[in-house]
Amino acid sequence: MVMPQSDDYPALCDALLDTIGRIAARHWCPATGGNFSARIDDQLRLITRSGRDKTRLSRADLMLCDARGKALNPADKPSDETALHARLYQLDSRIGAVLHTHSSTATVLSRLSHGSSLSIHGFEMQKAIHGQTSHLDALDVPIFDNTQDIDALAERVAERWPADATVVPALLVRGHGLYAWGRDLNEAYRHVEGLEFLFECVWQERLATRDLS
Ligand SMILES: [Zn+2]
Repeated sequence: MVMPQSDDYPALCDALLDTIGRIAARHWCPATGGNFSARIDDQLRLITRSGRDKTRLSRADLMLCDARGKALNPADKPSDETALHARLYQLDSRIGAVLHTHSSTATVLSRLSHGSSLSIHGFEMQKAIHGQTSHLDALDVPIFDNTQDIDALAERVAERWPADATVVPALLVRGHGLYAWGRDLNEAYRHVEGLEFLFECVWQERLATRDLS
């Protein structure tokens, strides 16, 4: 593995592994699903290898890609969804980490939401999401139809990316899962945890009121 010449590199590997471990413990990335990355610098991204069990990762399960999502070592195989990670880092230079989960609640809710976003409103937990200051704010998480063409998905995300800085730091892929990001791993994890909680609340509320539309 090509090793970046940075004192922070081993610590970043361990921080990413710790974050993935916490997510796996919540059962948000079963059956080798999900993929996780962090920005090392302008040129390099650290990302999970394809097809690894996220409950038992080591540093050997991480690899390096360039800013376009291409493996530095051609023998390495990154996640199939690396192109979307790469595009998100490109769209906002402040993004330091991207976390992609496959929870059952996010998967089901995104299938039942037929519009282009999932609107969340009235929950105190919204304040866990960067830019939200009150339960009265509207939190509209964009939804994109699933596809196996990740380059095309990345293109659609770029097309909907707002010109101002008010973008919600997350998106849903229908029937697939959640992407959430942040300025660093801690913020990205808080966004995943807050959103997964909010998705669960919305789902429980719909079940309780039998409003499954
Ligand atoms: Zn996925």
